[in-house]
Amino acid sequence: MFCRNCGQEVHPQAVACPNCGVQPNAEKKFCPNCGVATEPNQAACTQCGVSLVTSTSSNPFQGSKNKLVAGLLGILLGGLGIHKFYLGYNKEGIIMLVITLITCGFGGSIIAIIGLIEGIIYLTKTDEDFEQTYVKNQKPWF
Ligand SMILES: [Zn+2]
Ligand SMILES: [Zn+2]
Repeated sequence: MFCRNCGQEVHPQAVACPNCGVQPNAEKKFCPNCGVATEPNQAACTQCGVSLVTSTSSNPFQGSKNKLVAGLLGILLGGLGIHKFYLGYNKEGIIMLVITLITCGFGGSIIAIIGLIEGIIYLTKTDEDFEQTYVKNQKPWF
């Protein structure tokens, strides 16, 4: 492959370019396949046609939160607040977990219903709506 910072040929497994010292994939100035100069926002190389988009978002557990995962956690494990922890609402998750534990599961049935409702709400929302409401705005309840 070619270093995307300086365009020099580097070993495909190289962690740093021997020519410029930068991680070969860190920049977007050159095509990694043929070494031609590219624009940072270019989707594919104009010379060789290789895709220039780094596919880091293919894993649903990375970056953006997965609506389906959050919904299922709420429905299945709502009484333990696991879906709250998943979405980054640690305080709310602890509240749900503590209520379930200190009431010996009695309050847990109520919390589980809240989790179930929240899980269903997550699943009925569109991906954009879910992202906007629970990931960006950090709306803790419902
Ligand atoms: Zn380089
Ligand atoms: Zn190319």
